[in-house]
Amino acid sequence: MDVDRVLVVGGGPAGLEAAHGVASLGRRVLLVEGRDELGGTPYASYATLTPDLSDATEAMRGMIDRITDNPLVDVRLGTRVVASSGEAGGFRVALEGKDGEKREEAAAAVIVATGFQHFDPGRETQMYGYYEYDDVITLVDAEKMFREGRIVRPSNGEAPATVCFIQCVGSRDRQIGNKYCSKVCCGIASKQAIEIRRMVPGAKVFIFYIDMRMYGFWEDQIYWKAQEEYKVNYVRGIVTEVIRKGDKLLVKGEDTTMGRPMEVLMDLVILSVGMEPSRGTVEMSRIFGIPREEHGFLATVGGPLDTVSTPVPGIFVAGAAAGPKDLEDSISMGGAAAMKAAALLARMGEGALR
Ligand SMILES: Cc1cc2nc3c(=O)[nH]c(=O)nc-3n(C[C@H](O)[C@H](O)[C@H](O)COP(=O)(O)OP(=O)(O)OC[C@H]3O[C@@H](n4cnc5c(N)ncnc54)[C@H](O)[C@@H]3O)c2cc1C
Ligand code: SF4
Repeated sequence: MDVDRVLVVGGGPAGLEAAHGVASLGRRVLLVEGRDELGGTPYASYATLTPDLSDATEAMRGMIDRITDNPLVDVRLGTRVVASSGEAGGFRVALEGKDGEKREEAAAAVIVATGFQHFDPGRETQMYGYYEYDDVITLVDAEKMFREGRIVRPSNGEAPATVCFIQCVGSRDRQIGNKYCSKVCCGIASKQAIEIRRMVPGAKVFIFYIDMRMYGFWEDQIYWKAQEEYKVNYVRGIVTEVIRKGDKLLVKGEDTTMGRPMEVLMDLVILSVGMEPSRGTVEMSRIFGIPREEHGFLATVGGPLDTVSTPVPGIFVAGAAAGPKDLEDSISMGGAAAMKAAALLARMGEGALR
């Protein structure tokens, strides 16, 4: 059985980068992806990427092609890891395909890159009416429309004259147990606001936020651009309720800058849903015995100085399986995990392991 290789679980941006990194170091990779295609969430669900609105499908296609064309990478689609035994240098895993057929495989090291899932707004404690009103949608629903080159009110198919984003839906909410910032949604909402203003130049676009969290260059590349070039209105406020009024949506809350109640009519409301660990990430915790940190993501041991080593020797994590991450973080972690896994194989070759 092939022990001299690295198992990568998850074929999103982090897993693709990890697989590419391991193969670039001359080592073999077994890449297991639960879906029928590689590319992860950006390939499956998004139209454009920050900061420059590049085409998500094209960008991910580049990452996918260099993996599928690589003879050192054995890709298994529609496959999940269902059991594992062994230790660093000699893991044995059971893989299950969609037909239910099981197969045992071996690997010296494992990189878990099973990512995140979008927060389900039905779990939100505020009353935003996602499952009640057609014109309340999420960032992900908006990306689906952008893929068709349009943004419309789902209720009547018409372009919206007024649009608002509600930030921090499912994030920074102690009541539902998500005590973290999802890191990307301020940037993504601002990116989408720019796209809406490009598609419907007459539309008025508002972003209701608790505080804007723009990291690094996004401040300049997205936030100021949205305000100055695209006239997006940022309103510091807390939205508590969305209800129907005639054929519009009445957004109620408090303008916290002015310190007064706020009620505004909107055609379209977009909920900035955050990131939670995916079902696969939770499964990997159970199957490989990787502890989860207090927010439910996979735990790492090195704090800021080692973002990819888990408490289980020989098992590394990359991307949003370890917490809310943007693409830059996910790709950097993929590279770091690849280097550490390949180093473990090299140590094995020198007899330093086992
Ligand atoms: C609305 C929204 C828009 C975003 N847009 C941007 C953006 O423009 N720019 C940016 O920098 N970031 C963006 N992000 C963040 C970006 O999506 C993540 O950084 C990135 O997808 C993380 O990559 P990943 O590979 O860790 O996880 P994912 O993309 O989630 O990929 C994980 C992969 O693992 C697979 N998997 C899961 N479980 C299993 C299992 N048990 N077995 C096998 N395979 C499994 C999944 O099918 C998936 O293919 C956005 C996030 C949100 C919420
Ligand atoms: S990135 Fe912005 S919208 Fe997302 S959780 Fe953090 S503060 Fe809220």
